Amino acid sequence: MTNEYQIRVVPEVAAQEDRLKAWLADEYGFDVRTIFGVRILKRSIDARQRQIFVNLKVRVYINEQPHDDEYIRTEYPNVEGKPQVIVVGAGPGGLFAALRLIELGLRPIVLERGKNVHERKKDLAAITKTQQVDPESNYCFGEGGAGAYSDGKLYTRSKKRGNTDKILNVFCQHGASTAILADAHPHIGTDRLPKVIEAMRNTIINCGGEVHFQTRMTRLIIDNGQLTMDNCLTGRVVGVEAVANNYPLSIINYQLEFRGPVILATGHSARDVYRYLAEAKIEMEAKGIAVGVRLEHPSQLIDQIQYHNKQGRGKYLPAAEYAMVTQVEGRGVYSFCMCPGGFVIPAATDRQQIVVNGMSPASRGTQWSNSGMVVELRPEDIEDERLLVNGYCLPLRVLRFQEELEKLCWQQGNRQQTAPAQRMADFVNGRLSYDLPKSSYAPGLISSPLHFWMPPMITKRLQEGFKTFGRNAHGFLTNEAVLIAVETRTSSPVRILRDHETLQHVRVQGLFPCGEGAGYAGGIVSAGVDGERCAEMAAAYITNHL
Ligand SMILES: Cc1cc2nc3c(=O)[nH]c(=O)nc-3n(C[C@H](O)[C@H](O)[C@H](O)COP(=O)(O)OP(=O)(O)OC[C@H]3O[C@@H](n4cnc5c(N)ncnc54)[C@H](O)[C@@H]3O)c2cc1C
Repeated sequence: MTNEYQIRVVPEVAAQEDRLKAWLADEYGFDVRTIFGVRILKRSIDARQRQIFVNLKVRVYINEQPHDDEYIRTEYPNVEGKPQVIVVGAGPGGLFAALRLIELGLRPIVLERGKNVHERKKDLAAITKTQQVDPESNYCFGEGGAGAYSDGKLYTRSKKRGNTDKILNVFCQHGASTAILADAHPHIGTDRLPKVIEAMRNTIINCGGEVHFQTRMTRLIIDNGQLTMDNCLTGRVVGVEAVANNYPLSIINYQLEFRGPVILATGHSARDVYRYLAEAKIEMEAKGIAVGVRLEHPSQLIDQIQYHNKQGRGKYLPAAEYAMVTQVEGRGVYSFCMCPGGFVIPAATDRQQIVVNGMSPASRGTQWSNSGMVVELRPEDIEDERLLVNGYCLPLRVLRFQEELEKLCWQQGNRQQTAPAQRMADFVNGRLSYDLPKSSYAPGLISSPLHFWMPPMITKRLQEGFKTFGRNAHGFLTNEAVLIAVETRTSSPVRILRDHETLQHVRVQGLFPCGEGAGYAGGIVSAGVDGERCAEMAAAYITNHL
């Protein structure tokens, strides 16, 4: 027999199966020896009061062993010899598109400019050692995309765009812990993600798909290309050209061609792709982003604040999260991509840039907790800015702003990956920091007056926002915390326009702009959902056209 219960218990009961069994036996009048297993179906922490509770939905197995599957399996057939679809980019958008194509009986050909997820790791370590970023293999480029070396947070605010549960189940099928199906705020952790991504690649290859690393798409092959009166390209995409340097003589770039409709899932950092699309007159528009800094506190301080306890989180609670949001002068100021017990990392994709982001291991056990602290930026905000280059191609306006700010940050940071930083209260009070606290940011920090050189529309709003957050959470606004510049890659600065229903580009057939880089997702799960939808529409396109 199985029974399901919605219960509310203290953290030490929720964390230990024998204590949980004893609690259930007591509460519902069972003999504890008859409880053969307990499966947690939903879990969330209620930290609103001084006494913390964990809300659980549990399935209790009485006099029977747990036998049902912990996740829903997807069947992947062999697709050798089936019509092919080109998927550009092996981030979550591209990988989930490829897997869904296989489910639908089509053969994905995945092109990825970076290296496989394990080789890539060496280039990430080299950023700290050499202070240099490899423009083709970094925290944004390579197998797994920007999501590979991240926190692996798997929640999305968007519920309407498809089946997020499916994405979580596919992750479980490829080795992620089934805890992600239960947790209100699931995450995989940067130490576990590479194995999951590798397993997804193996599914693609074992089913007859192809994955080409170090293979960069350079242009689309377009039939019947014509310019319209308003100077936009129309036509039909029939494939891509690419360069590869993955052969034994890696100094040689091999020119390659791949044929088929194209799912373009190149992420928000492929600026060469945006520039190519702009030059080819493929219609796009500038899109708003959010810009600011990474804020890093000692994790114990965040635990003390969020769990209302001087002792911190104790043995049974995870590193505490927070989410802050306010409005300052008509623009949102908010925390973004919070990484409890994590690291701040160098996420630039080119040599003369500094970009920071955050990640954390599955244990979330480091002594720091960080979060992006960003201000909403709309395309029209840039017109007043000194960083706008007059006459710069309109759709790339926000991209240009990002690029200039990242370069300015690099100049302020000694022209290396050493990041400019300032203590939090010093920033709010407009004072240079005399020294800086210890930080998780491995390439190192340099004290810098961020309040002075960052764009005033960002600085002033962050200063006001921090005052509000400090009032709402006592102890949050402190000089024990450090701001690390600059966080700019919060989402895509461009939207590649596509038809609402067919998901094809509005003017170019056979081209499916996909995921975060196209402006239709923000985060691992939403990129995965969008990848699946693009695969479905590519399959419908093939049925109608081939
Ligand atoms: C450090 C960090 C931490 C993050 N943490 C989280 C988190 O915890 N949770 C979360 O939901 N989101 C997180 N994000 C955001 C998340 O990773 C992205 O939203 C998501 O990866 C977007 O997926 P995508 O497939 O659309 O694009 P991407 O993941 O950016 O993938 C695009 C891929 O395309 C490849 N590519 C680009 N140009 C070409 C070309 N010309 N030819 C071939 N290949 C090309 C790139 O190398 C890349 O692998 C984080 C991002 C970073 C950088």
